[in-house]
Amino acid sequence: MAHLSLYRKFRPSTFREIVRQEHVVRVLKNQIGRGEIGHAYLFTGARGTGKTSVARIFARAVNCEHPEDGSPCGKCPTCLALAEGSLDIAEIDAASNNGVNEMRDLREKVQYPPVTGRYKVYIIDEVHMLTDSAFNALLKTLEEPPAHAVFILATTEPHKIPATILSRCMRLDFKLIPEEDLEKHLMSVLDSIGKAYEKEAVAAIARAGAGSDRDMLSIAEMCLAYGDKLTYEGVTAVLGAADFETTASLVGAILGADMPTALSLTERILAEGKAVGVLLKDILNLLNEVAVAKSCANAEKLLSLPARLFAKVKEIASAADGNAILRATEIFVKTENELRFASSPRIALETALLRAAAPQTDRDIDALLVRIAQLERKVASLVAGVPAAQPKSEKSAPVKGFVPEERAEHRTAPPPEDPPFEELPPPEEPPFDLPPWEEPAPEPVREVRIQPAPEPRMDAEPFAASGAAPKAPAAPADGPRDAETTFGLFLRRLRKLPKSGVLYALCRDLEPDEADGKLILTTDIRTVADTLNGERHRAMMAEVLAQLGVTEFEVRFASASHAEEKDGVEQLKKDFSGYPVEVK
Ligand SMILES: [Zn+2]
Repeated sequence: MAHLSLYRKFRPSTFREIVRQEHVVRVLKNQIGRGEIGHAYLFTGARGTGKTSVARIFARAVNCEHPEDGSPCGKCPTCLALAEGSLDIAEIDAASNNGVNEMRDLREKVQYPPVTGRYKVYIIDEVHMLTDSAFNALLKTLEEPPAHAVFILATTEPHKIPATILSRCMRLDFKLIPEEDLEKHLMSVLDSIGKAYEKEAVAAIARAGAGSDRDMLSIAEMCLAYGDKLTYEGVTAVLGAADFETTASLVGAILGADMPTALSLTERILAEGKAVGVLLKDILNLLNEVAVAKSCANAEKLLSLPARLFAKVKEIASAADGNAILRATEIFVKTENELRFASSPRIALETALLRAAAPQTDRDIDALLVRIAQLERKVASLVAGVPAAQPKSEKSAPVKGFVPEERAEHRTAPPPEDPPFEELPPPEEPPFDLPPWEEPAPEPVREVRIQPAPEPRMDAEPFAASGAAPKAPAAPADGPRDAETTFGLFLRRLRKLPKSGVLYALCRDLEPDEADGKLILTTDIRTVADTLNGERHRAMMAEVLAQLGVTEFEVRFASASHAEEKDGVEQLKKDFSGYPVEVK
């Protein structure tokens, strides 16, 4: 007996056996039940989702004398005749019969009445491959179809079908089949052919099927040829996924910024003959698993990996920083897209590796965050002996690494939204305002500058608003830092907005500062200032800043602000004549 592939052997013959496409099946069954058969259908959807199978069942069902629940009965004379092969159901592969002659031929033949049943059904697969003139010929037929004709056009690329054809068809979209359904189907197939399997192996095959039943069954068939029992190891060997341990060590090294190990492991894997593209895919898969393990409580169930492998993924996840995982994933996804244009894929891969494993070579904000997280870990391990110090230093994230203990306690928890930054106080309420109320003897920092009398400070305040020096010495650490942090967050958010490229480019070199709760952004290029002060850009900036709690901000041209500063200093000197005034 000739070998029959699993997919053909288990090709569904009734609507009940169709995996997942209930929405399509229901429409068709209802039409059969009511005897309202249309003349033209368009089945769209990814390959292997069941378009042709459904078309064949439908073609037999419309002809069946006693359809059972919409499906062909398989017993009546018509069903038996159609099973033998009949001229009444024609399948045309438009990929190889795409010319105008084939369509003209079809137009002639469709005029003859059916031989066995009530309808002549034409299934045209890959219909988007037809030439323009062939489409025109088909359109003529669709415009005036004989009463006994039914056309089922199937395609993976509906956007390539002319509108004139589309408008004459009833369109039914086939969905990708979820992994869960694929798994169930594969298990029932394996059970019926009496093959033993590991659950993890089935899950891996379903994942590789990527929504397509046909692809999944062909992969399963390859795996069954590899070994009599389906094991996870066997499946990964067939799929060419590198030995898990090595890839896991590689990803661990990337996330741990261990460049030498990452490079030597890559060297080893590629030397074993693995293609660059496949390794890249393996890395991405593993990064994805690590991300899931890091962030989901039910990761073990979601990933359905064998226990030993899951333990390894979990280990990498708990050692890695969340930002580093995201950043590495972004880098490799980008590289995957670029790979097909790369003249040397290997160099592209290694560059990506270097960037991912060495955030210090990168100046973007994500890279900086990763570096900060690394520093924090080092600081945390340095102060590990001090009780309670470790969680604190972890809490007081990026810039505020050295905030005194009691100050950290005053801080109220801001609304959770942007995880890595949450612990930063909003810019309007700088933490340095809090301690003086709580503590009996705060350090009189402000009095350092003007020694004899404190009262002129009242006048000094408006001056500070113009963004000049006195405020800065008053709060040497927190003021400028806050503005910078806020601005960093602002840039980060801005970059993620759609169509913000130009604005981001204009903003990235601004110099942030703070004066009286107002964020001052300075540039030394006049056109940049003018552009940013334009209505549209200003509105966009305001929106992003508002999300960060900043309601007032100003974009300044540098030399203008210098002039203001000078005026201010002159004024100050006049007001405080007699006192030593020093402006930095
Ligand atoms: Zn029948």
